[in-house]
Order: sequence, then structure tokens, then C-alpha cells
Amino acid sequence: MFSVAREFSFSYGHRLYRYEGRCRRLHGHNALVRIEILGDGDSLNEHGMAFDFATLKETMGRWIDETLDHRVFLAKDDPLAKVLIDAGEEPVLLDGNPTAEQLAKAIYEHAVEIGLRVQRVDFWETKNCRATYAR
Ligand SMILES: [Zn+2]
Repeated sequence: MFSVAREFSFSYGHRLYRYEGRCRRLHGHNALVRIEILGDGDSLNEHGMAFDFATLKETMGRWIDETLDHRVFLAKDDPLAKVLIDAGEEPVLLDGNPTAEQLAKAIYEHAVEIGLRVQRVDFWETKNCRATYAR
């Protein structure tokens, strides 16, 4: 059984709404994401690949660059969302707080949506803190 993974990094801002810890304040991270794609058993394509890293870069890498990089993530009900939108910003709004867990799941779901056989998404919010989403 083969699987392949590619890492992507991007920068973002967020805050956790209705949370007492330091992350209630608006701040930023340089995230590292690892997206793992499941191969088809032991079979490889005519190039000897379970999945082409270049395809991962062209699909998920481009989506991360265009949709997630240098954006602010907020909970939908965070009042800061309206302030930023009124100021001409385009925050990414999530159903819950924009934690590493939620972002790992959102990336996983996008991979499923575009038809990738995603196995898991690891999301490092910092060098020492990682959340993983898999089904
Ligand atoms: Zn944070």
C-alpha cells in the first residue's frame, strides 16, 4: 500500500472568539500543512507513481495560495468579521472557532471535494503544535 504526502506552508491571522486564553487576541501564524494521499494498493502508474506530487501542488497548493494564504480566519459569529469586511478585508469565516483542528478539517474537506483520495491532513499551527484530521 502506497501513500504520498506533500507539505505546504502559508501565513494567516486568527483569533478564538469566546475563549479566555491568549488566542482570544488577533494574532498570526506561519502554518505547515501535510496532505497525505492514498495510493491504489500496490499499484503505480506508468511513471512509477502512486500519485503525482505535481498534481498535489497544482490543486491543493494553488487553492491554499489563493484561498488561505495571508487571510484572517474567524468564527462566523465573531463581531470582528463585520468590522474587517466593512474595512474592505476578506476574512474566511468558519462555523466554529478557527483552531488548527478546524483548519485541518477544512483542508481535508476541500481535498475530498475535488476528488482526491486524501488519507489525512496534519496541520502545524506552530512548530510544536499539530492537529490532524482523518476519517
Ligand atoms: Zn493562534
